[in-house]
Amino acid sequence: MQQREILYEGKTKQLFQTEDPELILIHYMDTATAFNNIKLATIENKGILNNKISSLVFEYLAQKGIRTHYVKMVGDRDQLCRRVRIIPLEVIVRNVIAGSMAHRLGLEEGTKPSNVIFDICYKNDDLGDPLINDHHAVALGLVSYDELNRIYAMASEINHVLIELFDRVNITLVDFKVEFGYTPDGEIVLADEISPDTSRLWDKGTNERLDRDRFRRDMGRIREAYGEILARLERVIEKQ
Ligand code: UDP
Repeated sequence: MQQREILYEGKTKQLFQTEDPELILIHYMDTATAFNNIKLATIENKGILNNKISSLVFEYLAQKGIRTHYVKMVGDRDQLCRRVRIIPLEVIVRNVIAGSMAHRLGLEEGTKPSNVIFDICYKNDDLGDPLINDHHAVALGLVSYDELNRIYAMASEINHVLIELFDRVNITLVDFKVEFGYTPDGEIVLADEISPDTSRLWDKGTNERLDRDRFRRDMGRIREAYGEILARLERVIEKQ
């Protein structure tokens, strides 16, 4: 597919128009960022690994009946996706306490809460993606309460499918971030990516971090960790 005009450039991905107005091309780069762009680096081939991991995960979710924007992988760094209008919310699902929640509430990282925790953040770079609640989201005009309920239900379903998937490859799905968008006919679908850049994945045997915390916390061997995630997923997910 011939690449056209760039629609948007994010921190780790570029979005391009295609000859079909309903489809976009997402190009995964090797850039790594943390702490709202304060920490920046290039990790060779991370874009290739994340494209492959996110493609596999989205294909698996589709097999399990989750509606997504994903169409197919069309190159090492590229995937074709349906064009959607992104809802400016980051929905975070937490099965184990880690990261900002541990800091904010003075909890020990690794604590297992009695219930799954959902956070929402307002996607706004100038404001640093602040944590908000349902009422803020509705007051800001981002979504209705009804749409929020549908989004939480989808996030919960995705969580169940992914906990089971990662369990099969000996990984604890600690937490992850998802984004949703509207298709032209008004359906809410899962969009963006699911990869070690947007989730916390711990080896069940050793608790070794196999995700972006290796970059945030200068732990090294980032490419190896992402490669390990891809290799394990390839063992259990059948390519379409
Ligand atoms: N996350 C993300 N993008 C963001 C914020 C968070 O992908 O802009 C992911 C993050 O990688 C982790 C989960 O969401 O898997 C929860 O992140 P947290 O709120 O703990 O924030 P962080 O510690 O990443 O600042």
